[in-house]
Amino acid sequence: MAKILSGRDLADKMKQEYKKEIEQMKQQHNVVPGLAVVLIGDNPASLSYVKLKEKACAEVGIVSHDHKFNTDYKEEELLKLINDLNNNNNIHGILVQLPLPDHINEEKVLYAIDPGKDVDGFHPVNVGKMMIGGSCFLPCTPHGIQQLLVRNDIEIQGKHVVIIGRSNIVGKPLAMILIQKKPGANATVTLCHTRTKNIQEITRTADILVAAVGRPHTVTKDMVKQGAVVIDVGVNRVEDKTRKRGYRLVGDVDFEEVSEKASAITPVPGGVGPMTISMLLHNTIQAAKKHAGIE
Ligand code: NAP
Repeated sequence: MAKILSGRDLADKMKQEYKKEIEQMKQQHNVVPGLAVVLIGDNPASLSYVKLKEKACAEVGIVSHDHKFNTDYKEEELLKLINDLNNNNNIHGILVQLPLPDHINEEKVLYAIDPGKDVDGFHPVNVGKMMIGGSCFLPCTPHGIQQLLVRNDIEIQGKHVVIIGRSNIVGKPLAMILIQKKPGANATVTLCHTRTKNIQEITRTADILVAAVGRPHTVTKDMVKQGAVVIDVGVNRVEDKTRKRGYRLVGDVDFEEVSEKASAITPVPGGVGPMTISMLLHNTIQAAKKHAGIE
């Protein structure tokens, strides 16, 4: 049976590190990291993500500033709010929870965020710096995956990493991070998507297989090499009448059968999700330090 890579346990451990770091910042520099959380509409998944992020902030001592609006909030109002947050010295990070309602241009909004406060790492300035291996905010989910591998002593250098999914928030940035000529990277990466031919032949060559698809049971046992490390990014709601809320969360990987073949695997929930939040906390602390000129 595969080793379970618990993102929840690692994220809890990292929270203790962040807590100490923030206490020190407070005592020595009188700086308290502040994160603005912007949520528009009532998408249930977004509401629950925002709640988890705010809870994690409170646990480590980051002050989160809530900005919640109805679905009919206008794009120009949002752009004005972002401009105000960009100029607010108590705010070190700005998080705009996606997806935004259809009448708001997501690109316009993300590009309006000061790159120095872009703790999600979605601004093109940060994306460009990530690509050339510069110092920047890395997007939280791929960065969390890298940390989960590194802190579990899973060698990345020289390994073949196959990623299924090429989204701008997971697949593409993860590929960029893992191909860098840096410690915790130096992998050979293959990106797959819906137009990839013979995908099973490719996935079977993966030392590390990452599924970021958004469809349950996409990765089955026959797609996995014996002893591979399998990272499941997917978060899918499937109907489950035995649960009070009527559904349960599953990943993109058929966990039961793949865990018999893999050497290590992430669970859903409790795998990549908590690591994503952990890297958001990390980025917010880094933003506050940079703002205050703390090395
Ligand atoms: P996305 O933007 O919908 O992208 C999905 C990708 O998967 C696309 O590139 C698509 O290919 C590819 N794909 C879909 N079906 C496929 C198939 N049968 N074979 C091969 N490729 C296939 O999704 P995303 O935003 O990256 O999210 C993916 C999943 O991760 C979702 O379940 C999401 O909820 C979850 N997620 C979790 C976290 C976390 O913190 N745990 C964070 C972000 C996302 P094409 O490009 O060709 O369409």
